[in-house]
Amino acid sequence: MQYAIIADAYEKIEATTKRLEMTDLLVDLLKNTPKEIIDKVVYLTQGKIYPDFVGLEIGVAEKLAIKALARASGRSESEIEEDLKTSGDIGETAQKLIAKKKQVTFFQQPLTVQRVYETLDKMAKASGSGAVDAKMSLLAGLLADATPKEAKYIMRTVTGNLRLGIADMTVLDALAIAYGGGKETREHIERAYNISSDLGRVARVVAEKGLEGIKKFQVIVFEPIRPMLAERLSSPEEILDKLGGKCIAEYKYDGERIQAHKKGDEVILYSRRLENISNQYPDAVELIKKHVKAKDAILEAECVAMDLETGEMRPFQELMHRRRKYEIEKAMEAYPVSLFMFDALYVEGKDLTLEPYPVRRKMLEKTILEGERVKTAKHIITNNAKELESFFLEAIENGCEGLVCKSMAEDSVYQAGARGWLWIKYKRDYKSEMTDTVDLVVVGAFHGRGKRAGTYGALLLAAYNPENDTFETVTKCGTGFTDEDLAKLPEMMKKHVIQHKHPRVNSTIEADVWFEPKVVIEVLGAEITLSPIHTCAMDKIRKGSGLAIRFPRFTGNYRLDKSAEDATTEKEIIEMYKAQLKKITES
Ligand code: ATP
Repeated sequence: MQYAIIADAYEKIEATTKRLEMTDLLVDLLKNTPKEIIDKVVYLTQGKIYPDFVGLEIGVAEKLAIKALARASGRSESEIEEDLKTSGDIGETAQKLIAKKKQVTFFQQPLTVQRVYETLDKMAKASGSGAVDAKMSLLAGLLADATPKEAKYIMRTVTGNLRLGIADMTVLDALAIAYGGGKETREHIERAYNISSDLGRVARVVAEKGLEGIKKFQVIVFEPIRPMLAERLSSPEEILDKLGGKCIAEYKYDGERIQAHKKGDEVILYSRRLENISNQYPDAVELIKKHVKAKDAILEAECVAMDLETGEMRPFQELMHRRRKYEIEKAMEAYPVSLFMFDALYVEGKDLTLEPYPVRRKMLEKTILEGERVKTAKHIITNNAKELESFFLEAIENGCEGLVCKSMAEDSVYQAGARGWLWIKYKRDYKSEMTDTVDLVVVGAFHGRGKRAGTYGALLLAAYNPENDTFETVTKCGTGFTDEDLAKLPEMMKKHVIQHKHPRVNSTIEADVWFEPKVVIEVLGAEITLSPIHTCAMDKIRKGSGLAIRFPRFTGNYRLDKSAEDATTEKEIIEMYKAQLKKITES
């Protein structure tokens, strides 16, 4: 196929602003394309050579493009730069300069789509020290044989400026018309796209095998499935109502969504946006290899920053430290992660996306060997609004955002690429960000594990309630202590150890060690949230719930100047919660 056919189509597509006209032009182009290269033509129309998840870009910088054009057109780089200043488009400039050159040279080998594609592919894959020169020569070679119009589109493609405005959905429409048998067949083609994220493969299947072929389209490992998303409701009653009276409610973990693809020993992790993020999480890759029993599988998980010593979840923001190219090993150590698995989409050759959720969840449980750092999402099956509410509060207490409540119905398939009512999120409506430190009383402690064996892993902290002259627990704090602090804590607290919970302490949590309320420390938290476990402000904001400080960190200040009765009061905590209360409006 001549590249000129594509360039002509681009020119017409560019000239229209109407989507229907654009679709018709695309239909013509796709019909004129030999089936065996239709995938390539589809990628090219979107300015790519592979689907996005492959992560391979042609990546030609403008400077390099200018050099290649200089070589192919016989102009100097400064002349080209000059022209570029007025045109503002490297494509236009190339078209003009190649046209001038063509008036003097006659020999030209027509460009085929295959040759253009293969050359762009080589350019994308060029690496190492000679990469820049190699890319330049390859591009100059193409331009030398291009017509002016072809040069324009090649230039725009390689510099990432093609922008014909052809959306994925327009390609799906065009494929339905050209090869599916009509626009009404689009839903089948769209599903194929949703479970593969690969428009090229979809185009090829529908062109070669028609609608019947596309109906049999299956998930394959290393082609990410577009994620299923949740709708949102704000009461357990509404949720149960919507889900037919009963649901599987799972913790909504606060981390990064990961779709893990495994084939034998090879594992790729895809983000919510379907980018390959395996490099950010070498530890998660290892966890998948170790804990997924199936040889081949596609599973979904929330990857959560963890404090491995206390077993507590850390704020989502800590995962930002993983977004770096270098020294990932260091980030991995400082910000370890755990995986909470919540769906199985493919296991041992079987596409599960059309199975109801209870079946997928069972398969997930069978496929995973649970361990400290890999678990299935904590869940309950319930038809009771009260039970759902207390599970919700428990989830928040444990550092989650709330719940995802999932349909158990026959038709509870995996709706790839869609936000629907089969999953309903129930998030805490309110959270209050903390800016001030608080001074809290140490009322208990928990034994440390791992590096902290022999000392405390976390302290149980309380606020003072002057009305009852009691201490109400508000958080468990294990962060911010230096090794030195940790070493001296047991010694320092020894004189306050008592055998039972102190009568003035109100706690539903069982500490490993109890103290008389004497020592006050300064703590800064990230936010104050509702909590069914902590007794501070119990029933005062919401029935069955107290308040907790999330992600507390010891500031290093022992408030030796304060007695326990001088600690921050319950009332102050309620005020802080209210004052900084921020309605979270985004869904
Ligand atoms: P949000 O900001 O609320 O996470 P979102 O648009 O990214 O919104 P939603 O579909 O609204 O996604 O909510 C589902 C998200 O919750 C998933 O993308 C996933 O990252 C996360 N999640 C955490 N735990 C679960 C779980 N058990 N099941 C499904 N999704 C979960």
